[in-house]
Amino acid sequence: MIIKPLHEPEWLCLIPRFQGEHAEKQHFENLVKGYEGELKFAGLLEEISDDWLILYDLRLEYRRTIFQIDALLISPKSLHLFEVKNFESDFYIDSGKWFTINGKEIRDPVLQLNRCEFLLRQLLHEYGFNIPIKGNVVFINPTFTLYQAPLDLPIILPTQLDRLVQQLNRSAKKPGIRDINLAEKLAGAHLKRSPYDHLPEYNDSELKKGIYCAACSSFSISLKSDQITIICGKCGKEEAADSAVIRTLKEFQLLFPEEKVTTNRVYYWCGEIFSKKTVRRVLGRNFVLKGGGGSAHYVDLRADLSNTGMRGK
Ligand SMILES: [Zn+2]
Repeated sequence: MIIKPLHEPEWLCLIPRFQGEHAEKQHFENLVKGYEGELKFAGLLEEISDDWLILYDLRLEYRRTIFQIDALLISPKSLHLFEVKNFESDFYIDSGKWFTINGKEIRDPVLQLNRCEFLLRQLLHEYGFNIPIKGNVVFINPTFTLYQAPLDLPIILPTQLDRLVQQLNRSAKKPGIRDINLAEKLAGAHLKRSPYDHLPEYNDSELKKGIYCAACSSFSISLKSDQITIICGKCGKEEAADSAVIRTLKEFQLLFPEEKVTTNRVYYWCGEIFSKKTVRRVLGRNFVLKGGGGSAHYVDLRADLSNTGMRGK
């Protein structure tokens, strides 16, 4: 039973803006790869017994230290903690350190797991739960190979994934009220992501302004003669001004959560494609205008909803 599902990260919609020569492109590509790995693992866990209580992508805090859990499975007998890695191709371990096959040292994923396990144990202790935790790093990518791995490492290799599913099915046990309480308590303790956590360094001038096509992400957008419909020069997809402005504005708010939404700001952020009059009309229809004169700005009444995971996938 899934208690906390895996949601599409909000920053996914920002990716077209960082394409090209952006210095952080690699960083973003790694984030996407990580998310794809988590999705794949969630797909695999669809095959396990419904008795397991599953929480994905938990961000918890213990005494001001934030830690993140990719997947947590709860049963009356034990907790299974999974750190999911979507590493591709060959790696090796030498004197306890992890390297790519080209000899570049990487962060030890088992250390990361241990830290997470330690913090979770402390937190559970504080909650009054004393339940064994089994942690594992899961390598989900079928191309991953690890040389010179000690036998006792808490890792699950791609060739062992089927066995993991079988083993979880064998050890499944109906959850009790106490287990459900724990799952709900942890889900309730989940910290919302601040946009900064997962976003690379950027400033306004580095980001591509304008509206990109909702279908193919191309920035070759032009305004049709009706002045309220845009059309993509690459794939021909049309979109109404309202939808395009709101969609683009959401990204702006994600990137600059502190900034006030004003007609001018949105006008420039949309690449000056719509007239200020159109921008004002769209904002007026979808937002509430607060303040007057120089401090006038728009407030989204549904802003609270957008962060609660109610967005569709
Ligand atoms: Zn297009």
